[in-house]
This record gives sequence, C-alpha cells and structure tokens, in this order.
Amino acid sequence: MANPFKEGLKQLERAAKHLEDINPGVLERLRSPMREVHISIPVRMDDGSLRTFPGYRVQYDDSRGPFKGGIRFHPDANIHEVRALAFWMTFKCATVGIPYGGGKGGVQVDPKKLSERELEVLSRGWARAMSNVIGPDIDIPAPDVYTNPKIMGWMVDEFSQAVGKWSPGVITGKPISIGGSQGRGQATAQGGIYVAQELLKHLKIKKPSVIIQGFGNAGSVYAELASDLGWKVIGLSDSRGAIVNTKGIDIAKVSKHKLQTGSVVGFPGSVEMDNEKLLLQACDILVPAALEGVITKTNAGRIKAKAILELANGPTVPEADDKLFKKGIIVVPDILANAGGVTVSYFEWVQNNMNYYWTETEVLDRLKPIMVSAFNDVWMAATSAGVDLRTGAYIHATRRIAEAMVDRGRV
Ligand code: GLU
Repeated sequence: MANPFKEGLKQLERAAKHLEDINPGVLERLRSPMREVHISIPVRMDDGSLRTFPGYRVQYDDSRGPFKGGIRFHPDANIHEVRALAFWMTFKCATVGIPYGGGKGGVQVDPKKLSERELEVLSRGWARAMSNVIGPDIDIPAPDVYTNPKIMGWMVDEFSQAVGKWSPGVITGKPISIGGSQGRGQATAQGGIYVAQELLKHLKIKKPSVIIQGFGNAGSVYAELASDLGWKVIGLSDSRGAIVNTKGIDIAKVSKHKLQTGSVVGFPGSVEMDNEKLLLQACDILVPAALEGVITKTNAGRIKAKAILELANGPTVPEADDKLFKKGIIVVPDILANAGGVTVSYFEWVQNNMNYYWTETEVLDRLKPIMVSAFNDVWMAATSAGVDLRTGAYIHATRRIAEAMVDRGRV
C-alpha cells in the first residue's frame, strides 16, 4: 500500500458523516499528528563498517493519556506507515477505553539480516535517541512486527541509563523478569479470540473453520488458541508461502516444523499455495495477521470467508471494505480485533506503576470484559448508524476522544 495513512484518514472521514454533532475542531485535530521525530541510528557492523538506519516515532494524539504504541523493525518501514500505525493506535486505545493516546515507532531495517549484537546496538540506539521524547507519562513504546520482549529489555535498560533511574513503565512487552506482565505474549491473539467468540454468537457458529495469514507474534498464538478451543485451522501462511489442509492443521506440529525449517511451507499433509490465493479460500473466519493493505479492491470481491478478523493493523483498504459490506462479509476492524495487545500493555504499565504484579488468570480475567464490552459498543454504534463495524468503531472511538479534547479545552 503506497500510503496507508491516506487510507486511515478515509476511514475517519466515513465516521465523520455520523459525527456532525461533535465540535468540528476534534476532527480537524485528528487529521494530523501532534509530533513526528525522525532519527538516523548509527550501527558499527560486525565487519567493522558503519551503517545508519532511519528511525521514527510518531506521536499522533495524547488527549486521552500518554502516547502509546509499538515499534516496528521492517525493511519497508517508512514515515507514512508509522504515521498510519500511530493514527490507528489513537483510535484503538479509545475503542477499548484505556487511558492512552496513540503513537508508533519504526526502524527501516531487515532485522533478519543483523547479528544479535548489531540488533542490540540498533535497539539501544533507537531508545537513546528517543529518550528525550518518550517516558512513562509521555509516550510508552512496545513490540510490533519483528520486535519482541528481548528488544524491549535492551530499550528499557538504555532509557533507564539515559535518565538515571530504573523506569520499567517506559516500555511494555518487556520480559517478565524485568517488569513484563503475565499474559502479554498471548494478549493480542487472546483479545482476538474473545472478540471472535462474541461475533460467533451473532453468526450462530460454534466451531468455526479459520484461516490465518501470517505466523508471527500474533498469528501463531492465534492459531494455538483457536485450535485449543477445538476450532479448525485449515490454512496458514508466513512470508515464504501458504499451506492449506481442509481437514485441519495440527498447530503444535506445524510450529515445530517452522522452528526447524524456518517456514510453515512444506508441512507434511498440506497443499501449498501463495499468500494471495490463501485469502480467497472458503472458511468461517479469515484472520489477516501480518501487514497492511492485503485485502484490496481487486481481491475483496472474491473473498469467500463469512467474516474477517483483523489481527494485523490496516489489512483492509477502504474500497475493499465497501465490497465486503455489500456482500455481507463482516469485518471486525483492527482497532477492535487486535486491541488485546495494547490492553495488556496497559495492565503491564499499571503493574509497573504499582510495583505489584498479577497472575496470568488475573490479567486474562481483566482483559475479557474489556474486549467483550468494546465489541458490543462497536456493534451498537455500527447497527444504529447502519454502517460497517469499522465505521462503528471510529464513531465510538472519536466520541471518546472528543470528550477528552473538550474537557481539556483543546478544541
Ligand atoms: N503493536 C501492538 C499494536 O499494534 C501493541 C502496542 C502496545 O502494546 O502498545 O497494537
């Protein structure tokens, strides 16, 4: 997708038609980010050469609380993508009602091509350069595509050294030993399961067939949780290709296969196909769990899933939304479907602030009601306006942001 931020703005404009009663200053402010930071991160490579990598932090809006959102390491990361992701975080936090605004970070790099030492230097470089713009009450990063708890550990250490005090609340998604939360690793997927369970009540399906595009942080855990519930995972993919088995894929075995071979492709008993074709296979729930812009106006008309649950950020472009809505395919939007991750990030931050830690059961018991009520709020907003769930989510979220902006006297 050339400029995902433009697609994000189109999503907001659709909701704007149903928000004529709010202060117009709210929408005006929400059309552009409050601050963007561009850096260049120097890394001494293992071969002795010096390379620099472009890094970003977009602080989109902090009306409801500190900026919040992950950091992506990806060869295609760029300011337009990071801005879109920061925009989506703003609405995501408002959709589930956690007290944050939205932000996002990125580094344009292929982390698979770095050694562990180079990756550490790069991660520390990002945190050091950003140490004067992030902070536990200012802006709180977390993992995203191709970043993980280990990287968060280096970053929280670097930030804490820069400010001269241990500051676990500056980053979420940390390892458990240094203030990470139980349940954070599975939170994005778990939140998506809770939301899917609500959706299935409306669809009157008990044990859905599921296809998951992407087998990373979110998608692989979704596959595990879905199969634990007895749902039939019939298709999977990663960046190297896709596999299908209409009888169901054994997730424990395919995870082992991926660990050994580096990909889900080649898993015994499955049919191979390309990622694009996977999206067109018949199933109850299609779960895009990789990158943005995969469901387009070209393939939307041929999608045979009953519903789409967006575990990725921004997988569906607005023109595709229109086609899917007309066909009666329900799209549970990213800002609701994948909000479990940032919700448990919020719990992690609360635990860091209290210095008192919860069990996994306590975390999940707090996550579930938040996801269930967010789903119902979005469903209500959409049905009463006669629009799709994405527009419903934007209507609901924007009303919450508007309230904060008005109460702070920002508009
Ligand atoms: N990167 C995740 C997201 O897109 C998590 C963000 C967070 O935990 O702050 O929602």
